[in-house]
Order: sequence, then structure tokens, then C-alpha cells
Amino acid sequence: MLVVHHPDQALHDPDTVFRTGKFITQPDRAERYRIFLDIVTAERHEIVEAPLNRAEAITAIHDPAYVEFLESVHARWVQQPGYGPVAIPNVHPTHRMHRKPTELLGELGWYSNSTSCPITEGTWPAVFASAQVAVHGAERLVSAETPVYAMCRPPGHHAYPDLMTGVCYLNNAAIAAELLVARFGSVAVVDIDVHHCNGTQFIFWTRPNVMVCSVHVDPRLSAPYYAGHADEIGEGAGKGCNFNQPLPWATPDAPWLTAIDGAVARVRDFAPGALVVSLGFDAGEHDPSGAFKVTDAGFAEAGRKLAAVGCPTLLVQEGGYLSPSLGGYLRSFLRAFEGRT
Ligand SMILES: [Zn+2]
Repeated sequence: MLVVHHPDQALHDPDTVFRTGKFITQPDRAERYRIFLDIVTAERHEIVEAPLNRAEAITAIHDPAYVEFLESVHARWVQQPGYGPVAIPNVHPTHRMHRKPTELLGELGWYSNSTSCPITEGTWPAVFASAQVAVHGAERLVSAETPVYAMCRPPGHHAYPDLMTGVCYLNNAAIAAELLVARFGSVAVVDIDVHHCNGTQFIFWTRPNVMVCSVHVDPRLSAPYYAGHADEIGEGAGKGCNFNQPLPWATPDAPWLTAIDGAVARVRDFAPGALVVSLGFDAGEHDPSGAFKVTDAGFAEAGRKLAAVGCPTLLVQEGGYLSPSLGGYLRSFLRAFEGRT
């Protein structure tokens, strides 16, 4: 398998986020990048570094004003007298407020919906590199004989065109899918991260040429809370092209894999030109998210099922957080996807 990455992805490493009334360890640590890279190196995959030269592919999905804000916000932040070292919003508009401010803290809240997206000096270079990894992965898939693994980090599937949320800043999978539509005509995104892909769903909500299927923990119980229900099926020309399968807390392998079978069946009916797998490992039984009980063998079986779709496939890394099992989940999935187990 061809693996795409970039070392700048490790430059973003804030150590805490504010949740449940306290500061907790920020889950998307830079160590995840090194764990994934160690696995693909040990497994002797072909590894290439993404060039960082396709900014326009990002603004094909994201609001240019939002992208410019992300790029500049930390430099503005550190000039504010008395502010802390990390840009974290603490005020947000709601659906009852519609005027975008120009003051920094208000603007930061405008582009985010929680405290889960801290911004440090290294955040923009890392999220830009992560998006470029997805872009290059899509480009290589067009010419490759093999599947491509875009080793994205920070993840992206929660990010909206002008909103950072859930440790996601730029929607890597959506950026890649849009490029693949241009080449293959239609694309299916299958998201197996334990959290619903609310950003990806929103971006392609009215699109008939991009199907989005997600298998995730019931949003009544977990983030992203405000989207991810089974009755969300798309609208207009995209009606019927969005397929959500929320599952109960503590779901183990068997029902999780049955849901993946359901997604695969919908993808086969849709008959896309290419497949993007939003590959999260936070459904794992040892993941600190604690939502599902998927085993190593479960991830391997998911890899076999998704490979059997038989489309040109781009794997895009999403969540999956620090535990002794994280690297093993990736190894098991990739081996099975390639038919090596
Ligand atoms: Zn997740």
C-alpha cells in the first residue's frame, strides 16, 4: 500500500482541552502521528511525503475567510495583552445570533463550537499538512494500481466549511473526496470512526454524486450530539445519499460489522467510481473514548469487508487515540485490507 504523510503534522500538540468541567489531556496528541508512522514503516509499506502546494484544494471545500483566519489566528492571539499561550474560544454564537464580529475572541468563537480545538503556533502548519496529505493521497490514487493510505492527523471529519469542532480543523476526507469526484464522477465515503462525521455529512448533504455512510455511537449519548441520527438522509438532489447507522454504547464486533455490511451494501447500490474510508480506530475496545468494544479481529474484518467493495480506495485517518492497542488496530486493518491475513 502507498502511504502518504508529512512531518509537519506533528507540529500541533496542545496538551489539554476543557471538558466535563475540567482540563483533560487533549486526545489528538502528536504521538499518534509517530505511532502510525512506526507501524507503516515496520510493515514495509511504500511511504511518500506529500508536497505542500495545493492550497486551492482546501478552499474548494472550506470558506476562504475561515482558512485565512485559521492561518493567522495564533499570530493575532499572541499580540493580545494578558492572553494565555493557546487560543481557545470561550464565547460562541448560537442559532439565535447571526452577526460575525471582528474582535479576535468573538471571531474565534464564530468559527468554532466548543473548547476542543485549541490553536498553538504549530496548529496551522499541522492542519495544512494533514489536508495536503489527503490531497496528495487522492492524486496518487488516480494513478496508483493500489489503495492509498492518507495518514492524516489532525483528523478532519467533524470540520464544516467554516467551523472547527471536535479536534478537527479542515475536513481532509471531504477535500479528498471532492478531488476524486472530478476524476471518478462519483465517490462514496464510509466513515467507521466511533463518532458521527457531522462535517462530512453537512458538506455533501445536497450532493447526488457523493454518498456518505457513517457507523457510529448514538449521538444522543456522545459527541457530536447535534447530528448523526438515522433519519438524516440528505436533501434535494442528495436525498437518499446520506446513510447513518447510530449504534448503542458498548457495541461489540458483531453488530458493528453488521452495520458495516449495511454501509457496503448501500455503496454497492450507489456504484461509485471511488471509495474514501474515513478510518477511525476510536471504536476500539481499549480506546480512551470508551464507546464501543471493537477488537483487533473486528478491525481486520472491517478491512476485508471494505476492500471487497472493489473500488479504487483512499483510506483517510480520522480518530483513534492513545492506548497500547492503537498501532495494532492500524496494523490489523491494513493487513486485512490487503488480504495479507
Ligand atoms: Zn472519533
